[in-house]
Amino acid sequence: MKLRAHRFKQNALEALANPVLQASMKKAKGKFVDKRAIAIKEIDDFEATREAAKEIRNRVIENLDLWLEKFEQAAAARGAHVLWAKDGAEICRLVVDIGRKHGVKKAVKSKSMLSEEAGLNLALEAAGIQPVETDLGEYILQINDNEPPSHIIAPVVHKSLDEVADLFQKTHHTPRKTDIPQLTREAREVLRQHFLSAEMGISGGNFLIAETGSVALVTNEGNGRMVTTLPRVHVVITGIEKVIPTLEDLATLMRLLPRSATGQSISNYVSVLTGTKAEGESDGPEHLYFILVDNGRAEVVGSEFQDMLRCIRCGACMNHCPVYQTIGGQAYGWVYPGPMGSVLTPLYTGLENAIDLPHAATLCNQCGVVCPVKIPLPDLLRKLREKQVERHLRPWFERLAFRLWAWVASRPALYGLGTRFAVRYLKWLADGKGSIPRLGLAPEWTRGRNFPTPEGRTFRELYAQRGRA
Ligand code: SF4
Repeated sequence: MKLRAHRFKQNALEALANPVLQASMKKAKGKFVDKRAIAIKEIDDFEATREAAKEIRNRVIENLDLWLEKFEQAAAARGAHVLWAKDGAEICRLVVDIGRKHGVKKAVKSKSMLSEEAGLNLALEAAGIQPVETDLGEYILQINDNEPPSHIIAPVVHKSLDEVADLFQKTHHTPRKTDIPQLTREAREVLRQHFLSAEMGISGGNFLIAETGSVALVTNEGNGRMVTTLPRVHVVITGIEKVIPTLEDLATLMRLLPRSATGQSISNYVSVLTGTKAEGESDGPEHLYFILVDNGRAEVVGSEFQDMLRCIRCGACMNHCPVYQTIGGQAYGWVYPGPMGSVLTPLYTGLENAIDLPHAATLCNQCGVVCPVKIPLPDLLRKLREKQVERHLRPWFERLAFRLWAWVASRPALYGLGTRFAVRYLKWLADGKGSIPRLGLAPEWTRGRNFPTPEGRTFRELYAQRGRA
């Protein structure tokens, strides 16, 4: 996926000015939030389960090389090939090579964020292999000229029913319909032909299980099962951090993942896929490949951002983020939106390429509160901001303003004088009103909100007055 994170501000302004997107985001707002709040009450020991999940993820990441080796051995023992990719280009090369080796003309795909990172669909097309997205949301985006997703679990949350109806009519050459069951039936009929004719299935993986060499897939549509069992070749593409030690660990994480993501006690489909088709078995791939991808992850291991590798891609942080709820996911300009994306994108693509993302947060800590594996997202965002300052990546006027502020704030007399002047100026600006609609020197601050009018005297003055009284 093309990186557009460097134009976050412009993307966000465009999102705010897009009435269809705004209406869709308003409709979606709160949906997942309310459902999650109900679903987590089903677990008596919710906090203890979160702590256990955090421990599982930490245990793996602290010894990632050992667990990956264990996984590789177990997967190979069951007939799978384990390949390694350092970046998106290598993912594309490996998948195209596998496709050519097995004479593949068509590949059906279940949702895979890594293939978004790599821009795999374009590479497959260029190699003469037709990629077909089979997750309904991803399919809608693909037929809309490969539009990028706006949410990791609900990729078309930003789209209206009318937009989807138009797209289906245009692509399928069928009468326009707006009835949702009819639309999904139409998609199912189209996709069924692809499942039956594809030679290769490509999926992501929610977890890799080291003890059995399996991949666990968590989906709400049956497409994941079709992609992984019908074609004769199955390629799993995941990040190296997705490995967990045992099936028991999977059970712990599964108590949290669907509840945090969609507010479901359990997803419609949870598949644990192990090895190639054995003799006498009716389904399953004859050839199974795992492509385990670094793409920036190895560098995060052992760094002050290591906590981020615990992420289980539930999307709860974005569902609860006031910034995400207002601008949607595409504004973040890369595969991962919301607070998790604001940390991951700079880490994986370079801080200088995502200069505004660490600032795309109110630091209200809603994301930290709901994260099932206790990732301290606001702390990580603050650390990224510090890094930007250390590396002189912020604009000169911002750096100058902070230097000026530090100079004044370290001189109490000057600071007192300055604040005395400032509150009187702001009171004058308000002209008797309760709030200031437009702040003179910082008009952006008041573009979407009013600035409350100060009382007219500073805290120091009031404190001194009280002392005298
Ligand atoms: S950072 Fe936490 S809340 Fe956000 S997607 Fe990852 S696991 Fe879920």
